[in-house]
Amino acid sequence: GATIGILGGGQLGRMLSMAAARLGYKTCIFDPAGDCPASHVANYHLKAAYDDAGALEQFAQSCDVITFEFENIPTAALDILERHRPIRPGRDALRISQDRLTEKRWLADLGLTPAPFADIPDRAALDAALADLGTPAILKTRRFGYDGKGQVRIDDASQSGAAFDAMQGAPAILEGFVAFEREISVIAARGLDGAVACYDPGENVHRDGILHTTTLPAQIPHGLATDAVLLASRILTALDYVGVMGIELFVTPRGLLVNEIAPRVHNSGHWTQNGATIDQFEQHIRAVAGLPLGDGARFGDIVMENLVGDYADRLDAILRDPTAALHLYGKSEPRPGRKMGHVNRRVG
Ligand code: ATP
Ligand code: MG
Ligand code: MG
Repeated sequence: GATIGILGGGQLGRMLSMAAARLGYKTCIFDPAGDCPASHVANYHLKAAYDDAGALEQFAQSCDVITFEFENIPTAALDILERHRPIRPGRDALRISQDRLTEKRWLADLGLTPAPFADIPDRAALDAALADLGTPAILKTRRFGYDGKGQVRIDDASQSGAAFDAMQGAPAILEGFVAFEREISVIAARGLDGAVACYDPGENVHRDGILHTTTLPAQIPHGLATDAVLLASRILTALDYVGVMGIELFVTPRGLLVNEIAPRVHNSGHWTQNGATIDQFEQHIRAVAGLPLGDGARFGDIVMENLVGDYADRLDAILRDPTAALHLYGKSEPRPGRKMGHVNRRVG
């Protein structure tokens, strides 16, 4: 059987491996960490760094197709891998989503609406952008941010010096604060044949910058859900995308704003494991393996809750809850802010 290579061995790589196994594929994980969540379930684990050219070549040659669970793969590593095997989704999606500034410009060029933003190459640019966009605003590093890391909220222009220093010299953008009614996301998939399938939009609530719950259905009018799905398929088609993408949206009185896109399976799509016949992980594997996309129709109302940090005192109640499906990632140390697992609960 074919082997699917997965760059990154976190929980997303783990759940991708489990879905691939269900379809009869083998998986090979590339991750510098020895004991990563995906290594417990994948067939092979190549433990090496992203600057190890020999290891990258060995990895590529052991797989038939390569995919990834995170967007910050170094360009040089991709260059090596791509010489040997197809990478799906492709390089364009990675290049755009690795940099918040590039991503926002690309979305705007596509005719979509990101949050108001400005490039912040230096301190003077920050003061000018604050005068232009007003407060509150959020200063974000262009690269490598996740779970709200690398972001500082600015409530008053007097805080600009401290906020700029907090970026530690990293290139940044300023975003105007969006007074959204709610946050939703679309998990969209596009097959090798160009077919697009979207899951119902979910409604997301964050705690301390980390996704806390995703609730299905999102409490939005039917027309807005249609807008969200159409916008998502425009993004995937423009990128000639193959695989699953998570698209985070702000619902505002004036319509939908695109917060960010993630060229991979997405935390807000975990509900699909217990709310649809084909979940986002299998859908992604189907797409990158060149199989037809599956049926992602939602068959109930559902709430996904992340288990962040120490969840030990909640475990018994979750296991006894007849509506709850527990998914743990096999991480040994429950550090604060660390995603340890999630629970999908049927609510209707
Ligand atoms: P992820 O873990 O989803 O990749 P991230 O670190 O890339 O997160 P963002 O998605 O940019 O961070 O922001 C995290 C959360 O902070 C958003 O989901 C939203 O709740 C809030 N937020 C971010 N930008 C804005 C904004 N411009 N206006 C209002 N709220 C915002
Ligand atoms: Mg992000
Ligand atoms: Mg986000």
